[in-house]
Amino acid sequence: MTKPRRISIFGVTGSIGESTVDLLQRTQGYQVVALSGGRNVARLAELARTLRAEVAVVADAALLPDLRAALAGSGVEAAAGPDAIIEAALRPADWVMSAIVGAAGLAPGLAALTTGATLALANKESLVTAGPLMLATAAQHGARILPVDSEHSAIFQALAGEDMTAVERIILTASGGALRDWPLEKLSSATLQDALAHPNWAMGQRITIDSASMFNKALEVIEAKEFFGVLPSRIEVIIHPESIIHSAVGFHDGAVMAHLGAPDMRHAIGYALNWPARDPLPVARLDFAALGKLTFRAPDLARYPALRLAQEVMQAGGMAGAVFNAAKEVALDQFIAGQIGFMQMAHLVNATLGRLSADPQLGKVASSLDDVLAIDHLARVTARELAAGLTKTA
Ligand code: NAD
Ligand code: MG
Repeated sequence: MTKPRRISIFGVTGSIGESTVDLLQRTQGYQVVALSGGRNVARLAELARTLRAEVAVVADAALLPDLRAALAGSGVEAAAGPDAIIEAALRPADWVMSAIVGAAGLAPGLAALTTGATLALANKESLVTAGPLMLATAAQHGARILPVDSEHSAIFQALAGEDMTAVERIILTASGGALRDWPLEKLSSATLQDALAHPNWAMGQRITIDSASMFNKALEVIEAKEFFGVLPSRIEVIIHPESIIHSAVGFHDGAVMAHLGAPDMRHAIGYALNWPARDPLPVARLDFAALGKLTFRAPDLARYPALRLAQEVMQAGGMAGAVFNAAKEVALDQFIAGQIGFMQMAHLVNATLGRLSADPQLGKVASSLDDVLAIDHLARVTARELAAGLTKTA
């Protein structure tokens, strides 16, 4: 018998985490090392018991007594706090799912890479804030990063066996999110509930709002540039409301290889879990006759200023991605809290980038986690300061 694969899941209580567990429960021959969750102790403990994890870690340190109580008698170790998540990520594992949302996912992902593990990367913020550092850490420790974002998994699959020098363009598809059919002048008045009504994908709250604003696609453009090492000018975004084509690669002979499938994240998670094999997955099969047609439209940059900001961030290079992401996280918090309007998120991110553009730190490529955390902190402080001076419009 082959040795069981050792698996850890960070962000197990979230949308991607739960889908990963769903696939694991249909699999054999694995052993769970570490699981982490943000604040949902009851669900974390339940999953840790069911999967017989070695350790469960809750991000909020104040919840350690609750987690201990919930795990009493289970034999699962309880731990809490961001440092404990990093320690858990340093425990030897073969396959690690990085599914924490936001910049908080960077440190555990980097830690896992230093063990030589295969990192299934859902946390796109890792590549946006510290792409070169992630890739260098993986290379240094013989670790591998497999993309889990559906677009990047699609591109990765379209590139299998291909020569990168033959790539002419990368085509990222976007659903357009919940507000894609709203008139431009109404967008400023979109509420949290409006932004959360995603037409195709069931995802965590934050990424769902980021889909409506296209900040999610902006992060993904940067993620693609970092992961696949292509020039920004070779990355295109196209709105594809049906979310059937998950993304595509155009080659210099004019051929386009696309990945199609039902909008179900278990496609991408399963591909990363089974790679390099392609094992059966419990996802819906496409019925082309029932689909009838697939449609496309060019994104309007007036509706989606985040896409223009992504171009500016890539041009700026250095640690602009970390500023962009941190400012976006603050803007999103402010929107969720009802402090700023929907279109003011891009305004705030733009203003933060502008304020910090002269900072000499920004031009440097991060050579350590501390570099990234310092600029992330500065960007958050700056964005909060700028937000305090904004009056909510609409
Ligand atoms: P989610 O909000 O459903 O879950 C996030 C997980 O991270 C939860 O377990 C939560 O408890 C935990 N968490 C939150 N804040 C934390 C913190 N500060 N420290 C530690 N843990 C924390 O999010 P999701 O939709 O599953 O997305 C996870 C990641 O995957 C994001 O980076 C997202 O962009 C990416 N992603 C998600 C989807 C999707 O379909 N949901 C698709 C592609 C990429
Ligand atoms: Mg995506």
